[in-house]
Amino acid sequence: MKTTLRKMESKAIDGEALREAAAIIREGGLVAFPTETVYGLGADALRPDAAKKIYEAKGRPSDNPLIVHVCEFGELAAIAKALPPEAELLAEAFWPGPLTMVVWKNDRVPYATTGGMDTVAVRMPDHPVALALIRESGCLIAAPSANTSGKPSPTEAAHVALDLDGKIPLILDGGAVGIGIESTILDLTEETPMILRPGYITKEMIEEVLQKEVRVDPGIIGDSADRKPKAPGMKYRHYAPKADLMLVEGEEAAVIQKINELAAEKRRDGRKAGVIATDETKGRYEADYVVSIGARTDEDAIARHLYKILREFDELEVDVIYSESFATPRIGGAIMNRLMKAAGHRILTVE
Ligand code: AMP
Ligand code: MG
Repeated sequence: MKTTLRKMESKAIDGEALREAAAIIREGGLVAFPTETVYGLGADALRPDAAKKIYEAKGRPSDNPLIVHVCEFGELAAIAKALPPEAELLAEAFWPGPLTMVVWKNDRVPYATTGGMDTVAVRMPDHPVALALIRESGCLIAAPSANTSGKPSPTEAAHVALDLDGKIPLILDGGAVGIGIESTILDLTEETPMILRPGYITKEMIEEVLQKEVRVDPGIIGDSADRKPKAPGMKYRHYAPKADLMLVEGEEAAVIQKINELAAEKRRDGRKAGVIATDETKGRYEADYVVSIGARTDEDAIARHLYKILREFDELEVDVIYSESFATPRIGGAIMNRLMKAAGHRILTVE
């Protein structure tokens, strides 16, 4: 299959490309498109044959459910069995935006979309191209991240092309995404809402809107090999770069010294070492490649650059990557959740 890439300015949407994309979705085909979090691989969420194509193109395990993207709140009500009162409050506060809500599904949603589950995950993306595509197609759009399963999520159209060229007919190129990590997933099917995946919308932000306590799925805290995460996708080792990745945390000077020691050791063995540093520390490392993720004080930039850097290291063919830890104040939990998985939970604490 030939894959076409079409530029899509957010401010001046190309009507012809949009209609072409919408037609593909309506016919049960696949289109990759930008959202504010990462690029999504979209298909008609209410057609089992269309949803199946997503799993095939990504090589995604069929028990890993898809998030359904809507452009109006009423579309959530139309596919939910019963809508908890929290849903409306949260949508008012955070939609369109990076919050996915899990609710009980009704019969309109096929099991092919929900990976066999009786619940469905829904969000309204905050991106003009994504919203226009949903509206123009007249469909609800199931869309996981537009990468090959196990690779870092795509934050640019070029990443999508690398993974899915020849497997899908169309990629809408809306430039680099704004947030760079996937949405927060909140389960509303139990008495106490529970975060199944951390993201840009934090526990504190949700608690403030709901005026009640929110839990975090115990299955995603720490190296929880003994507990099963409630979001099926969270059990997989996502975001895995080709090289071995190790995180080093602790006081800045000690971290730099340790990483330099480890990198020197690897290089003596004839292996290539890379370092993920910050603007502040970049000049103090010695390795084959030293890349800054951004300023340590700018956590949004750290989130935005994370997957791109992991992909860059894949291209550079390093054998090992050492990274500083980014447990920043607000979204550090979400960033570290991705980074810890990419590292297979290898983290070294230095004094
Ligand atoms: P992705 O779209 O690639 O970010 O993956 C979607 C994530 O949402 C995966 O971790 C899924 O397991 C999770 N998810 C989707 N639907 C549900 C659901 N009904 N219940 C729990 N988790 C879900
Ligand atoms: Mg994904």
